[in-house]
This record gives sequence, structure tokens and C-alpha cells, in this order.
Amino acid sequence: MLERLLVMALILVSGACAAGQMWVKGNTHTHTTMSDGDSPPEVVVEWYKSHGYNFLVLSDHNKLVDPTQYDTDPADGFILIPGEEVSAESEHKPVHVNGLGIKEVVPPRNRATLVETIQENVDAVLEVGGLPHINHPNFGFAFGHRELEKVQRYNLLEIFNGHPAVHNEGDMARLPVEHVWDILLSSGRDIFGIAVDDAHHFTKFGAGQANPGRGWIVVRVNELSRSDVLKNIRDGNFYASTGVELKDYSANRSAIRVSIKPAAGVRYISRFIGQHGQILREVEGPLAIYRFTGQPCEAYVRAKVIASNGAVAWTQPVRRK
Ligand SMILES: [Zn+2]
Ligand SMILES: [Zn+2]
Repeated sequence: MLERLLVMALILVSGACAAGQMWVKGNTHTHTTMSDGDSPPEVVVEWYKSHGYNFLVLSDHNKLVDPTQYDTDPADGFILIPGEEVSAESEHKPVHVNGLGIKEVVPPRNRATLVETIQENVDAVLEVGGLPHINHPNFGFAFGHRELEKVQRYNLLEIFNGHPAVHNEGDMARLPVEHVWDILLSSGRDIFGIAVDDAHHFTKFGAGQANPGRGWIVVRVNELSRSDVLKNIRDGNFYASTGVELKDYSANRSAIRVSIKPAAGVRYISRFIGQHGQILREVEGPLAIYRFTGQPCEAYVRAKVIASNGAVAWTQPVRRK
């Protein structure tokens, strides 16, 4: 019975598109002049709407921007999901947790230790019906796998953040966030990786600015509604990207299949990654298939697609049991 349930769960997470299913693109982390962004909500919303996004979370620091006044056309293929970047601190380090779909503003909770502070802000988001994602661990090199292993009740972690000051790749002493993700996955935690903009700057563009369009997620939904987008993010039914577009992605008990929508003149390598971040297989070209062999290194398997232009897509980990 248990095995049947697990197979069903896998199919639900990743099965072939049923009738009515579609992929929608969105960003869950953006700022406006309601906190420290340089543009008002209507300008920020317009940027995303006019760049092919289907949903957006305005996540100002410790503020909940009411989406109703900026999301007025129900038929434009674009929705706003209420949100906030709950911005706390502990041990002189920033602890930022996004709350998606919250019903009311969440005041930050500053506690004596980093672990307590992350946990309490995750719980604060859950208490108002929100979906928490833990933001940019390497911003200020605030925390890493040791802290995140002790935090419960979350399953979303930013593995890419487009702000220039967040050290996605770590430094000489600190791990890249993607490596932190593999450590958590290897310890048995079911964590899904998110890519976000953390955009602040819409008036001036450049490498030193926190501009939009750098990181997003693409979610498989039945309909473009707040509840369906949030449910499918929570269930890991999405991939994260900095520019690689997938045609389709599926997994079942025997294989993972990644199909890339190729851009002109760009080459692709799909890397299948397993327990402890091991590289299990690499495939060149627009179609990559990983067939499970039953080895322990397949405790989880995830795919990372790397394009010759530097863009990346990350699919979520698949566990067979
Ligand atoms: Zn932040
Ligand atoms: Zn932010």
C-alpha cells in the first residue's frame, strides 16, 4: 500500500501533463518603493507583465502590499500573489523569510540564535496561512546547512537570487547555496530549490544593480489562480531557471526525462545529480533521460541543465522511495 502511495505521489509531482495543465512563469521575490525598491508597485507590476510573466509576488520588507489595486484585470493572464519578505535579524546577521499568500502582515521575530529566528519566522508565515521560503542564506554569510538542518516546517529554499550582494556561489570558506541544498537533500530533507530576482532596481540596469529578469520559477498548474500556483509550488511541481526554458519535464519510477526548448546557437548539458551532490550522468543536447539503476547514490536525483550562454535550469529532486 505504501509503495502504491509513493508511486502515486511521484506521478502527481511530475507526471505527463493532464488535460488543462499548463506551465506558468513567475517571480516570488521583488521589492517596490513600499520598502527599499526604486519604483512604485504599478511600475514593477508592469515590468513583469510586459516581460511574459504570469504571476508575481511583491515581497516588500515587513510590509504587505495589497494586490487588489494593482491586479485589476482578471483576463490578462497575470496574477499578483500577496506576500512579504519577513526581515529579521539574529547574531548580527540578516534572516529573511518570504511569506507567499499571507492573509495579513507578519511582524519579524528577532530571537537570540539564528536557528530560533529562522524557525520562528517560518512559523509566523505558516500561522497566517502563508507558504514560507527561506531567502539568500549567503547574504551577509548569515547561515548555512548547519542551521538549516535544524529548522523544520519549510520545504522551499532560494538556491539562486539575482541580487548582486547575496553570494550564491559562496566564497573561499563558505559553500555555494546549491551545495547547501545537496547537503540538506542528502540528509533526507525534502527541500525544493527556488530561483528569484530579489529585484530592487527598475530605473537603472547593470551588473551592480538588483534588476528584474534574472531568476524565476515555472510552475505546472491546472489554472492560473493564487491557490493553484501556491499549491503547486508547495508540492514541488515546478522548475527554477535563470534563462533555460524546458519544453517538458517528467519522472516516474524508472526514469527522469528533461526536454529543453533550445535557443538559437546555444548548446546544453544536462547534469543528473544524486546523493552528496554526486554527478550521476551528463547528457548533451536538447533531450536528456536518466534511468534509475537502484543504487544508493540515487537516494534523490535532480537535474541541472547548463547552457553555453551561462543560463541554468534546476528541476526538483525525485525520490523513488
Ligand atoms: Zn532579503
Ligand atoms: Zn529581498
